[in-house]
Amino acid sequence: MPNIDNLGNVLIRSDLNVPIKNGEITDYYRILKSVEIVKKISNKSRTITFVSHLGRPDGKDLKLSLRPVAVKMSEILDKEVHFIEETYGEKVERQIETSESKIFLLENLRYEKGEIDNDKNFSKQITKPFDSYIFDAFGAAHREHASVVSFGENLKSFQGPLMDKEIKELDKLLKNNESGYSVLLGGAKISDKLNLIEKLLPKVENLMVGGGMCFTLLKALGYEIGKSLLEESFISKAEELLNSDNGQKIILPTDFGVTDSIDSSDRVNIKFSDFKNNHIGIDIGPQTVLDFEKILNKSKNIFWNGPMGIFEKEEFSYGTRKITEAISNLSGYTCVGGGDSVSAINKFSDKKYFNHISTGGGASLEYLEGKKLPGVNKYKSLII
Ligand code: AMP
Repeated sequence: MPNIDNLGNVLIRSDLNVPIKNGEITDYYRILKSVEIVKKISNKSRTITFVSHLGRPDGKDLKLSLRPVAVKMSEILDKEVHFIEETYGEKVERQIETSESKIFLLENLRYEKGEIDNDKNFSKQITKPFDSYIFDAFGAAHREHASVVSFGENLKSFQGPLMDKEIKELDKLLKNNESGYSVLLGGAKISDKLNLIEKLLPKVENLMVGGGMCFTLLKALGYEIGKSLLEESFISKAEELLNSDNGQKIILPTDFGVTDSIDSSDRVNIKFSDFKNNHIGIDIGPQTVLDFEKILNKSKNIFWNGPMGIFEKEEFSYGTRKITEAISNLSGYTCVGGGDSVSAINKFSDKKYFNHISTGGGASLEYLEGKKLPGVNKYKSLII
């Protein structure tokens, strides 16, 4: 086992990529989870420095600075988290060496091209002031970026506790051999999730699809979908899946909330057979909510990713709200895969009613596809 009694100056790659609107952090769940490690390693380390990405900046976009995150971290920990405006170089080294603070946060990793390009020289520069490295950013574990695959080469390196927890929880579904495994997918794009659907179909009993993505499937079955979201180039793949051996496990909505214009607040509920060519499907309807609820109630293991409609808008949020409430009340094991589903939970329920909420959206989907992710189990666990 690697020695964890003396970590020296520690660098921790966390996933502090949180939504920020007008300088305000609108959901700080990832920060809350990430800073739990401080208490665990505080007496084993000289300094603790966090590093993360935030959004997808094109160069040094100050709107995507991690400074507000450092403020939030200080608030949660009730200790100063000293923000350093760089990611590497003399200034960083000097501050870590001389500051009275023990905890630091570096600036957005993605301000540096070297992160995305997995530049080894960049990795050497950034890891220079440190003795050990903890990779704890599940949300980035599916990327071949420098912090995921190269930082650890230069230091004594470990896998962090959040990574361990994600793997343990998602493995319950990945290695699931029990009957009663149901998956509910929503969100805008089917293109992001076709691979997942293909990989999950043989393993699950039911795969319910709502949100914008169900319309490409309905179109593939030959139904009128009006002006609803459609990804034309994926119709044939959708058709292939629907006609496959397990295609009958795909369960589609039978009624919808529709509108004539996304910008209006008008909504009517219609049966799927009553779609007109000017209709835009913006939510699942009440009958579909009941049908999905019935399946969810019978399920032992449930994975949910993606909203059932344009839930950001009150008038279009009915289906997502009802489904969020229904999953909150289930007795089976419930796992939620990040992103917009977590926003829906914050809006309509409470995270405490779910067994596991993944901190990684895309990464959790790729993991459940059965892919080997570059950042998963790369290092030995830091068992603390
Ligand atoms: P994704 O990032 O693919 O999970 O998509 C999340 C987004 O899907 C949310 O912002 C929703 O507003 C959007 N969405 C859900 N249902 C629909 C729909 N029927 N039409 C258009 N967008 C939708």
